[in-house]
Amino acid sequence: MRIGFIGLGAMGWHMAGHLTQLDATVMVWNRTQHKAEAHAMQFGSLAVELEQLVQADLIFSCLPTSAEVEAVIAAYPPRSGSVWIDCTSGVPASAQQLSRHLKQHGVDFLDAPVSGQTIGAEKGTLTVMIGGERTAFERAQPIIQAFAGLIEHVGDSGAGFAVKAVNNILMAANLWALSEGMSVLKAHAVHLDAALACINHSSGKSTMSETIMPQKILSRGFHKTFALNLLQKDIGIAIDLIKAVGQPADVLHCVQQMYSEMDLERATQVDFSAAIQTLEQRNQLLLDLA
Ligand code: NDP
Repeated sequence: MRIGFIGLGAMGWHMAGHLTQLDATVMVWNRTQHKAEAHAMQFGSLAVELEQLVQADLIFSCLPTSAEVEAVIAAYPPRSGSVWIDCTSGVPASAQQLSRHLKQHGVDFLDAPVSGQTIGAEKGTLTVMIGGERTAFERAQPIIQAFAGLIEHVGDSGAGFAVKAVNNILMAANLWALSEGMSVLKAHAVHLDAALACINHSSGKSTMSETIMPQKILSRGFHKTFALNLLQKDIGIAIDLIKAVGQPADVLHCVQQMYSEMDLERATQVDFSAAIQTLEQRNQLLLDLA
């Protein structure tokens, strides 16, 4: 079996690495070519040109947005009989359009975004939410297993991207609400590390309180693993889904407003947790342990 992987970024690097554990030839391509060569050195993958990669049986992509995936597919169409598994956090309508288009050429398209942060990619424990035809899902599942802790077929084409967008807007809501809560506690002179320990042993806990708040915000590191502009993109996808069905979703609209305060140029440079700095500025109070 030949597997191709396009996009060796913060997530794709590790995901493609796990695929090399399978009994298969793993071809990799990255826009910045030296990363593909470094991947080949580290994992025994094969750094190739895109023309060669799209001859694979299964092709993975993990790019910033659906626009880059559409551009690659338009320039380098995959061969008939293959399955394209797009692990980008993308746009449901784009998945549906690509799926229809590729089907005419004998190719199955699965939207298969992932969740679990770079640490989940490194450990091979990602959650993979998949939209598309069940037969294609069943063909891809044993391969995806190489980097997954949970794989769910969530519906037709576009359903995986929809679940991912809703997951990420919930994550953003959790982080913002937690930060507002911590800011109130700080203003009341409560010890933030002890407060967080209590919350993490109580019903207010979340992944944000257990990992992001202590590791990125209270530590003041804001270590970049997931760029804020990518989260802004996911929030935008979720808001478009909400608008398409005309539901009010007041809280989620507020979330979009909060996270769009930082301009796009800076948002590409910083980790998503740095969005909380706009809250800190507004409250004139840092979420530090001092
Ligand atoms: P990165 O920015 O780390 O990597 C992006 C990858 O896309 C790089 O390989 C980059 O190549 C490539 N790329 C960018 N623009 C183009 C282009 N125009 N043509 C071809 N290749 C391009 O992103 P992540 O790995 O963090 O994210 C990838 C996807 O996964 C996104 O959709 C994101 O929302 C999602 N995601 C990210 C998570 C995270 O924690 N980081 C968690 C879950 C999902 P180059 O090396 O040349 O820049």
